[in-house]
Amino acid sequence: MAKIQMKTPLVEMDGDEMTRIIWKMIKDILLIPYIDLKTEYYDLGLEYRNETNDQVTVDSALATKKYGVAVKCATITPNAARMTEYDLKEMWKSPNGTIRAMLDGTVFRTPILVKGITPYIPTWTKPITIARHAYGDIYKNVEMQVKAGSKAELVCTNPDGSETRELIYDFKNEDGIIQGVHNRDESISSFARACFNFALDTNQDIWFATKDTISKKYDHRFKDIFQEIYDNEYKEKFEKAGIEYFYTLIDDAVARVVRSNGGYIWACKNYDGDVMSDMVATAYGSLAMMTSVLVSPDGVYEYEAAHGTVQRHYYKHLKGEKTSTNSVATLFAWTGALRKRGELDNLDDLVKFADNLEKATIQTIEDGVMTGDLAALSTLPNKQTVDTEAFLVAVNERLQKLM
Ligand code: NAP
Ligand code: MG
Repeated sequence: MAKIQMKTPLVEMDGDEMTRIIWKMIKDILLIPYIDLKTEYYDLGLEYRNETNDQVTVDSALATKKYGVAVKCATITPNAARMTEYDLKEMWKSPNGTIRAMLDGTVFRTPILVKGITPYIPTWTKPITIARHAYGDIYKNVEMQVKAGSKAELVCTNPDGSETRELIYDFKNEDGIIQGVHNRDESISSFARACFNFALDTNQDIWFATKDTISKKYDHRFKDIFQEIYDNEYKEKFEKAGIEYFYTLIDDAVARVVRSNGGYIWACKNYDGDVMSDMVATAYGSLAMMTSVLVSPDGVYEYEAAHGTVQRHYYKHLKGEKTSTNSVATLFAWTGALRKRGELDNLDDLVKFADNLEKATIQTIEDGVMTGDLAALSTLPNKQTVDTEAFLVAVNERLQKLM
């Protein structure tokens, strides 16, 4: 069979440890035999980031802006231990942070559902995608511990030099704490656009929630920006697509999410997204079954797995032992990117290939062939635990039948 041809290259960001091993296996076993794979390759493995003073990360983000679609392998975010392990010149920043800042993007995380693994909330029969606003609020706060007798005020120096003051609290007789947070209209607007675009893209409703009844200026600003952008830029498109923008209070949203069947995007303020994404991921069963895509407000996409480099498995691998590492989220990062590339370049066979590869992957698990992490969760009677490579080979057997 002739290989599927590509037009525009995908930006390929290689990574670290066990996921770097899986990356090559996926390409060798499931992609290169079928696709004339065209990628612009960037090695974000920690050694090369160190060698290039992290310039390779910046270059990969610029290439993503240029071509529009990237696929990224998990990478090490250096800490003190990694400084010694890799003899680093500097404690380089998280590549994901650098790329997200350059693309001004929003991260959407979606669980992959399979028969045999029931979410802790069994009525969640469809995925819930969480979008987290990754700027500001308490993540860029300033805070102080103050002594009794202190008076805390919020002071803003206006453009004309005058000052606006608000009393926060008069700590007359007791010690206490205070905190200053901010956000930017532009960042909130980018977040809103990324959310509305992604809703259209995946044909799903989008929910957004804040605490605007209590926070009448801060949270209310989020609500107003979302509503304004929706009314001016998206209302018609949403009506045409038959999808809905739904705003409610955060506590009402939480209650509704638990009662729901899933199948929508939940846009969250930074802290809500931090907390709720861990809850949702856990409820669906496994971090190794969670995909992630960074979407910029101007429609640039970077796909990856939500998990890290699976370091413990890598050390086993280095000792020559077989590991049973789950490759599904990394595989879905590839299919997501290939499908998006196919859609943008009008390559129906590439889109169909991505669909088939996802189908074959789910079929494999539902046939009972899975890695150890899933076998521990699955209720299938005939399950069989396989190693990292054997799983991909089993997917390939099913893929061949679908082609
Ligand atoms: P991790 O790599 O996600 O792994 C944590 C544990 O979760 C593993 O030890 C493993 O449990 C389980 N696990 C995660 N993914 C799995 C998979 N695909 N298959 C099977 N089991 C899986 O997180 P970490 O150990 O905290 O971080 C390791 C490195 O990854 C760090 O250097 C961190 O900086 C980096 N990281 C990168 C990204 C990213 O690039 N997006 C995200 C998070 C972390 P068992 O060991 O019990 O089997
Ligand atoms: Mg969290």
